[in-house]
Amino acid sequence: MTGQIAKLAGLIRHSRRVVVFTGAGISTESGIPDFRSPGGIWTKMMPIEFSEYLVDRGARRESWRRRFEMEETWNAIRPNDGHQAVAELVARGIASHVITQNIDALHQASGVPDDRVIELHGNTTYAKCLDCGTRTEIAAIRARFEAEGEPPDCDLCGGIIKTATISFGQPMPQDEMARAQVATEACDMMLVLGSSLGVYPAAGFPLLACRCGARLVIVNREPTPQDRFADLVIHDEIGPTMRLVIAAL
Ligand code: NAD
Ligand code: ZN
Repeated sequence: MTGQIAKLAGLIRHSRRVVVFTGAGISTESGIPDFRSPGGIWTKMMPIEFSEYLVDRGARRESWRRRFEMEETWNAIRPNDGHQAVAELVARGIASHVITQNIDALHQASGVPDDRVIELHGNTTYAKCLDCGTRTEIAAIRARFEAEGEPPDCDLCGGIIKTATISFGQPMPQDEMARAQVATEACDMMLVLGSSLGVYPAAGFPLLACRCGARLVIVNREPTPQDRFADLVIHDEIGPTMRLVIAAL
C-alpha cells in the first residue's frame, strides 16, 4: 500500500497536467450508493428511458416522484476525502479539469470551480427545459407538482422540463463531450477514481488519454476492464488512498 501511494505521488509530481476522471465510486463514502452495489439506486427500480419521458406523462410523474424521494439525500450529502483531494489537486494547479460521470455536484461543493468540472451525465440538483434550456429549481417544480398533481411545463416555451441529468437513451451533451475531449488530449496523466469504466462513451476518455500518450492511473476497489492499460492500478478505497497521496506530494 505505502509503495503504491508513493508511486502515485511520484507520478503526479512528474506530470505537467493531470485530468481527473471520476465515477460513482468517489461518492459512495459520502453515502450515495454506486451503480452496481446491492441496494444501489438502479437495482431497486427500472430506469426511465429518455424516449418514454418525452412521450408519456405518467413516466414523467413517476420520474419526478423518484426525484423528490431523493431530495433529502441529495441535499444532505457532503464531499468526502476523495473529493477534497481532487479539489486540492485543482487548487494547486496540478489538475486542469475534473471529468465526472456523477450527477451529485459534489466536486463543485468541495470547491472545484464550475469551469473546471465537466459533467458528462449532467446534474440532478436542478432542472432544465428540454427545448429552450431555461433552468428551474427543483423546489419550485415540487411545489407545482404537489399543488397540481402534474410536473409543470416550461413557463417560457411550454417545453418539457427534466432534471438536468442525462437519462438512458438521451443524447450526450455536446459541449461537455467536446470540452472533455480537449482536456483529455492536453493532459499527460489521467487519474481515474471510482469508475467501473463500463459505461460508454464516458469510459472512452481514459482510453483516449492513453492513445494520446498520457499516463493512466486507476484507483478503484475492484478490477476494471482498463486496468491492463494503466501505468498504476490501486485496488483500494478512494478517500483514505487519496488523503495519503496528497500528504505525500
Ligand atoms: P459504477 O457504479 O459502474 O462503478 C463504480 C466503481 O467504483 C465500482 O467499480 C466500485 O467497485 C468502485 N467503488 C465504489 N466505492 C468505492 C470506494 N469507496 N473506493 C474505491 N472504489 C469504489 O459507476 P460509474 O462508472 O460512475 O457508472 C455508473 C453510472 O451511474 C454513471 O453514469 C453515473 O452517471 C451514474 N451514477 C451516479 C451517481 C452519483 O452521481 N454519485 C451514483 C450512482 C450512479
Ligand atoms: Zn422552455
